[in-house]
Amino acid sequence: MGQKNNNKSLSFSESVNFMVDRALTVLEIDSGISAALKACNSTIKINFPVEINGKIEVFTGWRSVHSDHRLPSKGGIRFAPIVNEDEVEALASLMTYKCAIVDVPFGGSKGGLLIDPSKYKRDDLQKITRRFARELVRKGFLSPAKNVPAPDMGTGEREMAWIADTYKHLHPEDINYSACVTGKPIAHGGIVGRTEATGRGVVYAIREFFRNADDVQAAGLKPGLGGKRIVMQGLGNVGYYAAKLLDEEDESKIIAIIERDGLLTNENGLCIEDVRMHINEHKTIKGFPDATFSENGAAGLEIKCDILIPAAMEAQITKKNAANIKAKLIVEAANGPVTFEADDILRQNGVTILPDAYVNAGGVTVSYFEWVRNLAHIRFGRMERRHDEMRGAQLLQAIESMAGKPAEDWMQKELVYGANELDLVRSGLDDTMRNSYQQLKEAYNSNDNINDFRTASYVVAIKKLVRSYIDIGVF
Ligand code: NAD
Repeated sequence: MGQKNNNKSLSFSESVNFMVDRALTVLEIDSGISAALKACNSTIKINFPVEINGKIEVFTGWRSVHSDHRLPSKGGIRFAPIVNEDEVEALASLMTYKCAIVDVPFGGSKGGLLIDPSKYKRDDLQKITRRFARELVRKGFLSPAKNVPAPDMGTGEREMAWIADTYKHLHPEDINYSACVTGKPIAHGGIVGRTEATGRGVVYAIREFFRNADDVQAAGLKPGLGGKRIVMQGLGNVGYYAAKLLDEEDESKIIAIIERDGLLTNENGLCIEDVRMHINEHKTIKGFPDATFSENGAAGLEIKCDILIPAAMEAQITKKNAANIKAKLIVEAANGPVTFEADDILRQNGVTILPDAYVNAGGVTVSYFEWVRNLAHIRFGRMERRHDEMRGAQLLQAIESMAGKPAEDWMQKELVYGANELDLVRSGLDDTMRNSYQQLKEAYNSNDNINDFRTASYVVAIKKLVRSYIDIGVF
């Protein structure tokens, strides 16, 4: 295990690596192999000029490949005013572990562009994105076979469409061009359910946790997700969909929302759809009726609640505020929201943490489905849907003739139904989150030296990675 200097805060990648070290120690992996597993394979930094309003501006972006034992390497591209090489490398390494945990056959990668997207007009952003994409293609860091980005903070399907179109123009001969990026608009090769996938995956992870009564009890929680008091940080892509599902489908109460500009609280629960509409209209949570507003957003993390879901960005729970956290369960929807030092404090205080590398893997899981769909050039379910319906109708007829009476309405509905693509995507995502949880749990229970889900998740990932490296002769 590496040594930490208590006087300075750890960088993001140091924080991730110290957490990974716990698992490497449990597995007694030798120091050479440990170093090889943690090292980033390659990182490029690109400075490129773009003319904005008649003036040249120079932009800086990074793309890092942590591992390429499986190709393509996969990971989002974020556009943010604070991005740096260390952050991109940390996020790329998380992608490696994440893909291994959920059995998605990709290496790990991540990209970032240093920019505040809110300060640029749409056309300028398009120019900047296309130029960045061109640089990535030319340098071998963007293609369906080698490196496939996806949305992350500050990017969405619009940016992915620009990236895909840029690649297509550079490689019109590549019949699989649309697989060069995931999270695209549906009309341009995207897959239904991708936009909501990370948030939905977060909820599937929480539901699976609550199906395991022993884990719920160990966390000091009462059974059942319904009625649980939840604090959500970040109502962006991931946070919004997670909160919306928890509010609408699981009947949990989102009692607080922390956003960039403050905190909204309501003990009776906030209506997520209404808060989102308010943000869309006013660009702030301030002024939302039906809630108390405070400018001290960080205080929201310390509210007494059952579940705290940080879904904004990294390093939100640090050694400074960890001791004040009162949630029983932290569900890391964002990447790296809890630092290594904070993780130590929270564990000592008995807080259960479902870790990022598992919790937010729904995005890459559905990205994998999208990539496969792009290579297959056909939507999932297109061949079998009507056939399944026909078989369902035949089964229903057989039941009716045996029973001598018409089937009940619910049978008509459920049996004579062929799954559409969205059903299949959600089923695949649910299956992935459930299976992966059970793998984590098995690892957790298999070794007395594993005392938390994060170490369990890295143990699961590292075992698979080492196996893969041995198979291809690297170790
Ligand atoms: P996003 O930009 O859509 O949303 C982030 C939200 O957090 C925004 O509403 C923003 O205003 C808010 N926010 C930013 N800083 C904040 C702060 N200090 N306090 C409170 N709120 C703050 O980004 P996203 O795509 O939802 O990503 C959020 C996190 O989830 C990131 O860590 C990202 O790496 C991770 N993640 C995203 C995906 C994905 O599919 N989008 C997949 C896996 C992981």
